[in-house]
Amino acid sequence: KMRSGLQKTRSTLNTDIRDLFKSEGRLVDDALLDDLFAKLIRTDMGTGPAETIRDDVAKRLRGRVVKLDEVLETITEQTQSMLSQESTELRLADSPPTVILVVGVNGSGKTTSIGKLAYHLHHTGHKVVLGAADTFRAAAVEQLTVWAGRIGCDIVTGNEGVDPASVAYQTVEKAIDLGADVVIIDTAGRLQTQTNLMQQLEKIRRVVEKKIEGAPHEVLLVLDATAGQNAISQAKGFSEAAGCTGIILAKLDGSAKGGVILPIREQFQLPVKFVGLGEKVEDIAVFDPDSFARALFT
Ligand code: GDP
Repeated sequence: KMRSGLQKTRSTLNTDIRDLFKSEGRLVDDALLDDLFAKLIRTDMGTGPAETIRDDVAKRLRGRVVKLDEVLETITEQTQSMLSQESTELRLADSPPTVILVVGVNGSGKTTSIGKLAYHLHHTGHKVVLGAADTFRAAAVEQLTVWAGRIGCDIVTGNEGVDPASVAYQTVEKAIDLGADVVIIDTAGRLQTQTNLMQQLEKIRRVVEKKIEGAPHEVLLVLDATAGQNAISQAKGFSEAAGCTGIILAKLDGSAKGGVILPIREQFQLPVKFVGLGEKVEDIAVFDPDSFARALFT
């Protein structure tokens, strides 16, 4: 799944890097290292990580004539070690239900990601209840209802304009009644002001916390992997105010710049927990650094 989702990045990058090599191999010297650096930058991984990879290739292979595969293997290993610094596992409550809030700017892929996450959890044996607390967008509520039907899980909705915190409260209540083990709550992606949005999130947190000790257990930020630096900076303010605990990187399949995951982790100081790899219900993967790095380069 990761391999096919990263197909765009891989084919661009590998064609790029392959161009640097002839079949009989090439001497690893400064010229090759500079070329390699330039190709890596094109994945949007950022100069820091590209330098780290270049330096590692230099340390291990400089002065030798090597073939493409050997260089790709070295790059893969280095990327794996850069990415494997923290746990990417979803934090589940000791005693259910686990409450997950999902935040993100409209259009980032939030609703789709919630649907896919719910499917993933449902599929791995969890009983899920969705809460459509983005009551400012009737379309978001409808869309989430369609996902719930597709997955076969319960959903709590409120009419347009209803207090999102009351939807969150009712969702948690319903989950407790049903003996569900995971609650996923959608939240608004835009209000008139940032302050409004933050107050609303605060209120959701409060009511949820009141009902279940330690909740919310995760606050996941959905980011669009195809968005530019601007959108990412915008999301940053958002994430700090919302007290996010992890990232869902959506639309990774739509990007030829999958390397963007490296600067995102650095900028947000948050682990990427899931990646979105398409629009279908099963197009989500738990982020695993090893298979990610391998799918990116080999
Ligand atoms: P929201 O406004 O943040 O709730 O965004 P939506 O969930 O409605 O998604 C916006 C668009 O992005 C829709 O057309 C989705 O089908 C699409 N989308 C969301 N996630 C992914 C993904 O992982 N891959 C691809 N290719 N498209 C996605």
